[in-house]
Amino acid sequence: MSAKAWVAKGPKQKMALESIDLGPLGHEDVEVAVEHCGVCHSDLSVLNNDWGISQYPAVLGHEVIGRVSALGPGAKGLKVGQHVGVGWTANSCQHCRQCLSGDQHLCNKAQPTIVGRRGGFASHIRAHWSWTIPLPDALNCAEAGPLLCGGITVFNPLAMFAKPTDRVGIVGIGGLGHMAVKFAHAYGCDVTAFTSSESKFDEARGFGADHVVSSRDSAAIKSLAGSIDMLIVTVNVPLDWDAMLGTLAPNGRMHMVGAVTEPVPVAVFPLILKQGSISASPTGSPVDIATMLDFSARHKITPQTEHMPMSQINEAFERLEAGKARYRIILDADF
Ligand SMILES: [Zn+2]
Ligand SMILES: [Zn+2]
Repeated sequence: MSAKAWVAKGPKQKMALESIDLGPLGHEDVEVAVEHCGVCHSDLSVLNNDWGISQYPAVLGHEVIGRVSALGPGAKGLKVGQHVGVGWTANSCQHCRQCLSGDQHLCNKAQPTIVGRRGGFASHIRAHWSWTIPLPDALNCAEAGPLLCGGITVFNPLAMFAKPTDRVGIVGIGGLGHMAVKFAHAYGCDVTAFTSSESKFDEARGFGADHVVSSRDSAAIKSLAGSIDMLIVTVNVPLDWDAMLGTLAPNGRMHMVGAVTEPVPVAVFPLILKQGSISASPTGSPVDIATMLDFSARHKITPQTEHMPMSQINEAFERLEAGKARYRIILDADF
């Protein structure tokens, strides 16, 4: 089976359209004909080898929406022609404690869709059946891609730690943060959006934020001291962490999902006094993803997107890198 794919030959290189040989379909694998694929900041990090884990030639794209085009003989629970999604992970070992406990995303043999495998900026992609997630009929498939990585990344902390009665702060209103505001609002929380960009204040309210605060305004942040039950931090840049932690109510939690490159300094004594927590998480398990997709369909939550044809992939990456995406770019397959 040969496929068309947008291939990066090395770090920071432009991607070029090539034919690639996918080889025989694995016993438990699923082949998906790609229709749409979101552009996630992690695609850029892997393209640039920011984390030192990239493998070239690389085919990026891990917010994949498409239809099942072929099933290995041992692939379970799916039908040819069905709409499915594939996110950050394409396979896991299926037998370790994490996999057997339903924490497959924490398997230390989990295979990222875009490292050592071929991702979704292609005509076809392959993944293990357990990581090929059926889409609810009520979900708008053309807009759903970014839910598969960005969406689950911010949904899972809410599902794990937040109550609908909580006051939740979303720090950073970008690709991840704007989805977090929508989820927290639908969940019933009182939502405070923190953004460095005043141009996003009105949009953040449109996504469901009850309050909007500038993340550069330490005085405004300090005025929220002791009021927020959970902060979800989606930014990857340093902030006034003392002020942010100061917003936490007793028993509060600051949860990190943005890969902040600098260490986060923490004054421990105030955290002790309020019995606070600092935590972090990656994406979520296949069941977590399916639950998030059901929730999204029920509450009609989709990301705010810009569509571009996949043939403009290099322009799309430039737009993302320049911070111009509002709020998530989806590439539509045009092979
Ligand atoms: Zn991602
Ligand atoms: Zn495992």
